[in-house]
Amino acid sequence: MAQGDDLAVLELAIRTAVTRLGASLLEGLLAGDDGYRGPRAACRAGHQAVLTGYRAKTIDTVVGPVAVRRAWYHCAECGHGLAPRDAELGCARASMSPGLARMTARAAAAVPFARAAGLLGELAGISLTVKRVERCAEMAGAAAAAAISAETDAICARELIPVPPPLPLPDMLYIAVDGTGVPMVPAATRDRAGKAADGKARTREVKLACLFTQTTTDEDGFPVRDPGSSSYLATFEPAERFGHLTDAEGRRRGSQHIRQLVVLGDGAAWIWNLADELFPAATQIVDLYHAREHVHELATLATRLLRGSQPDWLAQRLEELDAGNIPALLTAGQDLKFTGSLARERDKALGYFEANAHRMHYQHFRALGMFIGSGVVEAGCKAIIGQRLKLSGMRWNIPGATAIATLRCQEASNRWEHIWQRAHYQTPPVSLAKHAS
Ligand SMILES: [Zn+2]
Repeated sequence: MAQGDDLAVLELAIRTAVTRLGASLLEGLLAGDDGYRGPRAACRAGHQAVLTGYRAKTIDTVVGPVAVRRAWYHCAECGHGLAPRDAELGCARASMSPGLARMTARAAAAVPFARAAGLLGELAGISLTVKRVERCAEMAGAAAAAAISAETDAICARELIPVPPPLPLPDMLYIAVDGTGVPMVPAATRDRAGKAADGKARTREVKLACLFTQTTTDEDGFPVRDPGSSSYLATFEPAERFGHLTDAEGRRRGSQHIRQLVVLGDGAAWIWNLADELFPAATQIVDLYHAREHVHELATLATRLLRGSQPDWLAQRLEELDAGNIPALLTAGQDLKFTGSLARERDKALGYFEANAHRMHYQHFRALGMFIGSGVVEAGCKAIIGQRLKLSGMRWNIPGATAIATLRCQEASNRWEHIWQRAHYQTPPVSLAKHAS
């Protein structure tokens, strides 16, 4: 035996024993209330349900399964039964305690469901099937998404006014927007056009926003993101709904109070349409790295035309872009003597710079100490979406991907605890209700 094996066996055995002891203690505590709430109790629809007896239920907790016996009421009008005690314990229509549900959702937000189940077994000694881990995380994520959505509606309707950010106010609020494809099961992309050879979509776009603030620059004049200031949101819903969610998040973050708003995006038209509508006073900046890619594409188009001088040509155009000298870049582009389809491609490529020229005053933005790259949201896309939803072999449906993306956004925004402070987080939305037991 290797060194430490004895201890490893011993400590695990003791944990198992202590956990069992804990479960019986918990069971004893729960038995102190039999859930009797009088001969009648209100059902969820507000009817009077009638006591029919007592029923046993097993709840999985962080110390293992625990049996509870509680009063059972039947509602004749709804045609089903309920135990008021379950709702009080946070286990209505669920067989996991809130504590275990939190733990499970946390693991499943971080790693794939099968690995999460394995980690819970190894680290916490809790045995759950992969399917239960998945359902638990989806329910928590769906409930969080529903709560965020409801809050968004209230904020957009001005029924809820977020408190201003604490003083001193940050100087600038950035809203960086991006989209990325998430691989989907066929049912989730049915009838959607895509880029694959057969014209069908394999992915659905999740739209992501990262909001962060900036107050200072470093000694070299580069902008510094206020530490811990990033918050994220992600949705598969259309641009209009994404706009509402972003608007609400902007208001939560102080868009009504902070001096300077900045919208950072790649060149996609929908982003600027939203920015015009929601944040008309914001400075719009095309992410420099996306713009550079477009310069590279233009140079690639001109490889045969320019031959040996192509690298120099590219370097000069990148310099012009960095300086925000879009007129010079456009003139050089128009000087490329293409014909036919290449000419059309050139004009299309130049159209990007024409349309976005006013969002590419990079030298000016730099001089003001502003961020000109949306590296934050790109990194966020990779970390929040890519590292959990786009792993090899994964195929999602929209509710599942939304739930996990929501949990991960909440975590990346340091709002993990908020999910659980919202009441009834275990109440599943209708589409997931069939999973609940
Ligand atoms: Zn009823």
